[in-house]
Amino acid sequence: MTEKTDMKSMELSELTEFVTGLGERSFRAKQLYEWMHKKLVPSVEDMTNLPKALRDQIKEKAEYVSLKMVRRLESGIDGTRKYLFGLADGNVIESVFMRYHHGNSVCVSSQIGCRMGCKFCASTLDGLVRNLTASEMLEQVYRIQADTGERISNIVVMGSGEPLDNYDALVRFIRLLSDENGPHISQRNITVSTCGLVPEIRRLAEEGFSVTLALSLHAADDETRRTLMPIANRYSLSEILPACREYFEKTGRRLTFEYSLVAGVNDTDEEAERLARLIKNLHGHVNLIPVNPIKERDYRQSDRSRVEAFKEALVRRKINATVRREMGRDIGGACGQLRKGYLEKGEDTV
Ligand code: SAH
Repeated sequence: MTEKTDMKSMELSELTEFVTGLGERSFRAKQLYEWMHKKLVPSVEDMTNLPKALRDQIKEKAEYVSLKMVRRLESGIDGTRKYLFGLADGNVIESVFMRYHHGNSVCVSSQIGCRMGCKFCASTLDGLVRNLTASEMLEQVYRIQADTGERISNIVVMGSGEPLDNYDALVRFIRLLSDENGPHISQRNITVSTCGLVPEIRRLAEEGFSVTLALSLHAADDETRRTLMPIANRYSLSEILPACREYFEKTGRRLTFEYSLVAGVNDTDEEAERLARLIKNLHGHVNLIPVNPIKERDYRQSDRSRVEAFKEALVRRKINATVRREMGRDIGGACGQLRKGYLEKGEDTV
């Protein structure tokens, strides 16, 4: 069986080629694109200004990727919503909607599972199942937009998966997301978080985008970093940080360094000092995340006063640092745990 065309992952020029290939005029491509990326309809049947014959042809030749909401949790504290979406092949993925004073933000998954193996992360425990397509990444945003009825202005690719391990789909996702004929989300409001894949960081710097790069650092020396993140065995900080500098120089976007604080592992004042020295000329800002414990590992969160002291040690050394506010505490659990709990307990009991 030949694979059907994934229409929602196509740029307008590709879609135009597809539509004219069916013997249709090119304005139909524009209409189709609008239904998918502006009006966000859940099915081809909803595209009411397309002739029925064309809709039938599209359904036969193309796949219309649309996610199904399987579960939704809403915080009574801050309005954060966690979603579990079902994909056509039966897999499920997690996405999060957060309200900030600067606008609404969606945290998008880029893969089902992950193969990076970071020790404190729930998404990687069962390895990588498969990459998500650009359309499956977009649909997380579209379904949340449709569900909340609110404009989404910020996207963080910080859900399950390593976005730079799914490079082509990521780049397509960014192009479609920021396209003025589609959702038109500013690239300046898109952040891509990576555990540090050096060749792909350099490649992303060349795309001509203005998206923010967040590097998951989590340690200020290679040795400690290797105990937390297997990828540190492949790339040392002496390779990663110059790639980040290049990213900043090419894009002009300030870097974000993510640092999850794990009690007794990476949270002393000496480590803060080492971190400050490591990144002092890199035009970055540090985002401290008290580690979210997962039941499969015994990592503990640094206590509140240690987190503050670590932050102060950075600020004293002129490093811009903030502690990530925990959103949706009452619908808690670390990232990736909603999906994991669902898979473990089975469909009926969650
Ligand atoms: N693969 C990407 C996205 C991962 S999720 C990356 O590595 O950057 C976004 C951030 O959350 C990363 O910095 C990741 O290391 C961190 N993270 C994952 N699980 C966590 C946990 N249980 N507690 C705190 N931070 C966690």
